[in-house]
Amino acid sequence: MPITKAEAARLARRTGMKLEDFSWDNNGALTLLNNESTRACVFLLTDSANHDAEGLCSVYEIRPKGCQTYPYVLNENDQAILDKGCPHTTQFPSPPEDMSITLLNLEERILQEGQGD
Ligand code: SF4
Repeated sequence: MPITKAEAARLARRTGMKLEDFSWDNNGALTLLNNESTRACVFLLTDSANHDAEGLCSVYEIRPKGCQTYPYVLNENDQAILDKGCPHTTQFPSPPEDMSITLLNLEERILQEGQGD
């Protein structure tokens, strides 16, 4: 999950973790790390490596914007869709009308930060 620098700073401040312990530089986009054994986000409380295993987000109140908007993602035409990789999409309605703009703004911000702006 890509995150902004402000979100990373907040996660570091609130969890006491170092940036490198929960994120990595994915071609300039700061991205949440996955746990080596569960392969899920390091903040997901689970001991299972199953893709649809139950788990709780340990930073739910301060989770990044991309987590708040998931499972809505952009397709190749920059339209918001439900992520086909999410096993729970049937629990979500079609993307709200303004979701594409929200996701495009977030993506642009993360990419700009990766370019040093
Ligand atoms: S919602 Fe929480 S556990 Fe899920 S990707 Fe975001 S920070 Fe990680």
